[in-house]
Amino acid sequence: MSAVAPPAVDPAAAEEMAQEAAAWCALHGLVVGDRANPRSATVPGVGLVHAPFSLLPARLPEHFWRQACELAPIFNELVDRVSLDGDFLQDSLSKTRQVDDFTSRLLEIHRKMMETNKKENIRLGLHRSDYMLDSETRSLLQIELNTISASFPGLGSLVSELHRTLINHYGHFLSLEPKRVPGNAASSKFAEALAKAWAEFNVDSAVVMMIIQPEERNMYDQYWLTKHLKITHGITTIRKTLSQVEAEGKVLPDGTLLVDNKQVAVVYYRAGYTPNDYPSEAEWSARLLIEQSSAVKCPSISYHLVGTKKIQQELAKPNVLERFLENKEDIAKLRKCFAGLWSLDDEEIIKTAIEKPELFVLKPQREGGGNNIYGLDLRETLTILQKEGGDARAAYILMQRIFPEASLAYLVRDGISHEGLVISELGIYGAYLRNKDKVVINDQCGYLMRTKVSSSDEGGVAAGFAVLDSLYLT
Ligand code: ADP
Ligand code: MG
Ligand code: MG
Repeated sequence: MSAVAPPAVDPAAAEEMAQEAAAWCALHGLVVGDRANPRSATVPGVGLVHAPFSLLPARLPEHFWRQACELAPIFNELVDRVSLDGDFLQDSLSKTRQVDDFTSRLLEIHRKMMETNKKENIRLGLHRSDYMLDSETRSLLQIELNTISASFPGLGSLVSELHRTLINHYGHFLSLEPKRVPGNAASSKFAEALAKAWAEFNVDSAVVMMIIQPEERNMYDQYWLTKHLKITHGITTIRKTLSQVEAEGKVLPDGTLLVDNKQVAVVYYRAGYTPNDYPSEAEWSARLLIEQSSAVKCPSISYHLVGTKKIQQELAKPNVLERFLENKEDIAKLRKCFAGLWSLDDEEIIKTAIEKPELFVLKPQREGGGNNIYGLDLRETLTILQKEGGDARAAYILMQRIFPEASLAYLVRDGISHEGLVISELGIYGAYLRNKDKVVINDQCGYLMRTKVSSSDEGGVAAGFAVLDSLYLT
């Protein structure tokens, strides 16, 4: 995201800094499970390696940073408003459900909740809106809005601290100032939002339940929230997979959710966003059970659906935002960050994308990185879809490809630093909490910068494409 070349660091200095940084990671819990150790995804404290990171923060002009922060509460409100319109969600996703089994199962749960007229009084959203700076138009454009399992609030906060520390030590010869790295309280702010939701639920003995994958190398990011919940707020977190919830959980007639005989106040999902998290009917039963309970869900099924790529594309159509928001300035701010988004009903755009696939990204209704289709694969997929005609197209949306400016940086992975041309993606965390008509929180909650080599299409850190980063305001 840089307009200015980063300060040159010679390879020997970079090596020294990388070693100091990697040691800092180990000392401060900026760690993930090591792929090389099979037990690292299931046994805490075994097989740790420093999280992949960028040696120095990514540069970003300050006004883009402010713009992104300002958008967070508006997106929070938008998600809440859209979630209240069950018919809009069902109708917008009706064609997708015909061809995408996962979306269909989510909609099925949503429809059941609509039929029983289930109302969520306490509504908690922990989102992350991701952006790239388009070099051609010099505008900040949204990549996507994550409403479920937005990851790295824990580790992201630490990378900002790591970068401030390195700049403190080496800044004199790099001509960098630590205060230009914005403080990042994502970890404590997300924990605070979970704690406030717990307080609204108002049962002292109840716990927060984190829904986890059976194997999770990113568990320390999650444990950071657990730690804040316990130490700052005195709240206990239990960790359960969906299949454990199915085996150990029940909902009492009054809506109380009990898991392993503990009452659950807040369910925080760090799993459940991909079909892989539902290998059998047991996981789907657990998801339904939780939804039927009175526990606060982060996210509820409707918040989850609002975060789908199809809904992102529907919201970008003319006059749709106006259905959900009144404030014209807010609407204008949101629209300004929308990239081109199209459904595959649009023959013209399909034709253009087949001609110039490099200008588009083809996205299925999936989360977690590694699912998008680019370049020649995009052309081939669209050509096949066009020949087949019919419903299969409804599984995808097309998006304008954003081209951030590349800059040189050192990325450190597994103790080795590599210099390369990189691009960055800025994520802004947002928390929203409402109890009936009382809005308790609607805030920006810190940030996540992710940086990847510019030749890579995808961007996930956990998926192995990107490294964690922070930002340097210019
Ligand atoms: P996911 O929910 O799997 O994270 P994303 O929409 O965020 O899906 O896409 C994954 C990655 O693909 C992003 O992190 C980004 O690096 C890249 N990407 C997505 N959309 C675009 C786009 N319009 N232009 C350029 N890169 C994109
Ligand atoms: Mg996503
Ligand atoms: Mg993403």
